[in-house]
Amino acid sequence: MNDWNIQSRAHACEACQQPFTDKQSYHTILFEEKVELRRQDVCDGCWQERFAGAQELNGFISQWQGVYQAPPPVTEAIQKETAETVLKKLIELNDPRYVPAGFILAVMLERKRVLKVKEQVIRDGRRTIIYEQSKTGEVFTITDPDLHLNQLEEVQRDVANLLEHGFNPPQAAETVAATVATETATNAPESPVEPAPATVTAETTVAS
Ligand SMILES: [Zn+2]
Repeated sequence: MNDWNIQSRAHACEACQQPFTDKQSYHTILFEEKVELRRQDVCDGCWQERFAGAQELNGFISQWQGVYQAPPPVTEAIQKETAETVLKKLIELNDPRYVPAGFILAVMLERKRVLKVKEQVIRDGRRTIIYEQSKTGEVFTITDPDLHLNQLEEVQRDVANLLEHGFNPPQAAETVAATVATETATNAPESPVEPAPATVTAETTVAS
């Protein structure tokens, strides 16, 4: 099971291919496959006809019912770093060094009810928590790093740092700098507004 894999909510029933409409209820079924969780979203009809006995199937882990929400239109607004955006970047980066920080952020977001615990399983003796992002319906897993008290302070400092200064993975720094330079060069003559400060532009580039 890949601990850092985000599985988005489907926009259509995976059994009958009918697109979900806003506010439609659907069912999520989680199966364990060789290396990761397999998520399937299906409509009410398909759930009743074909999946109501899913609990009996090999690899079944969990299932729940959700309400589909049509995604909001994409905006170009500059995103401020929040616990949520930092956690998402940590998950995308998939670096074991950030497992403790990711765990602390997930717990913070769970307390704020941004994330919901859907299931907890024990994998190789470690607690793995299956989280759902309440609004987007995205599902991902976080492994409990089993932190000791004497590690907490360092991890909390890491988290505070990420929240305060944002997140720029070192290996991407060169690409970001190059992109910023190109964008500044091409946009400058047409742009009627003041060019954005370099740090803000860099964040936008990383986020996109
Ligand atoms: Zn269906």
